[in-house]
Amino acid sequence: MKIVQIDVFKVDLPYSGGVYLLSGGREYRSFDATIVRISTDNGIEGWGESTPFGTTYIGAHARGVRAGIEEIAPSLLGLDPRRSDRINDAMDSALVAHEHAKTALDVACWDIFGKSVDLPVCELLGGRTDVRMPVISSIYTGDPEDMRRRVAEHREAGYTSHSIKIGDDPALDADRIQASLADRKAGEYFIVDANGGMTPEMALRMLRLLPSGLDFVLEAPCASWRECLSLRRRSNVPMIWDELAVSDSSIVQLIGDDAAEGIGLKISKNGGLTRCRRQRDICIAAGLTISVQETTGSDIAFAAIVQMGQTVPKRLLRCVLESRDMVSLKTADGDFPVVNGHVVAPATPGLGIAPRLQVLGEPVATYR
Ligand SMILES: [Mg+2]
Repeated sequence: MKIVQIDVFKVDLPYSGGVYLLSGGREYRSFDATIVRISTDNGIEGWGESTPFGTTYIGAHARGVRAGIEEIAPSLLGLDPRRSDRINDAMDSALVAHEHAKTALDVACWDIFGKSVDLPVCELLGGRTDVRMPVISSIYTGDPEDMRRRVAEHREAGYTSHSIKIGDDPALDADRIQASLADRKAGEYFIVDANGGMTPEMALRMLRLLPSGLDFVLEAPCASWRECLSLRRRSNVPMIWDELAVSDSSIVQLIGDDAAEGIGLKISKNGGLTRCRRQRDICIAAGLTISVQETTGSDIAFAAIVQMGQTVPKRLLRCVLESRDMVSLKTADGDFPVVNGHVVAPATPGLGIAPRLQVLGEPVATYR
């Protein structure tokens, strides 16, 4: 089987909640999605998506995705899309780093592989667990009582996991955490995510303002590796890393430094399903928890999350991000509804999605 054509589509995904606010005054109103279709010589089509969280989240941006694909795509023509590691070798030979650009192509190849053998991608990534995966909310920074209200709304919709964004001010952030956890129900899981917005000094002050016994894990407190480690040495709060855990080597280093209890495994941040598969296994070997997420994205991105999440053992899987909830445009249909806050990978081959071609429009680039 050979890759004969790669089409690139561009879609704007409006944020479903109006304006999304993160630490440091960052604002997001819509997300620029790149969706690719890879076609093979035997008529199979595979789909993948890469939607960076704006230009101010990590070192990734939407136009960079498409420019990266422009660099990479010609070298994939003629290759067998089922040879995932060899596809990634070819991508790495064409372009160093830029994992967010490689992701859409890598995911599309896995979609083809699954369709070619009539199996869902999760079966090829190691086999499905029987876990009903809890989806996690994404509660942007705001007034503490407003954040409490938005947690309650998600709880009402069945969510048992919540990601609370903080990172502006120690006292305000302590209030946000207490308000967001005020109505906590048994079994709920709370991530408090600063998105690298705090200095160790701010984080230590915030932690001292909190009553003991609040059950949460602190995600991405500081921007740099040194700051996170410094905070780690002087606090006893469980930590997970996200923006600094982006590659095989950074996760190995994280384990060597005993820097965290888990990671946010975001499909495009971490470089696609092939790399995420390896990073998942490194985390399993080290006993790190995994939250399978994305830097936002529509139905195609969510399908990749669900397929990867379905392979993580229950003991270590904390949640998956319902990225579809964050955008108001539907790019594909698939049989993986969220029911009472939980989702299970579909039984259909490949990613298990049927793209809405009228939503995608005409390709902005074609390589053949
Ligand atoms: Mg995060």
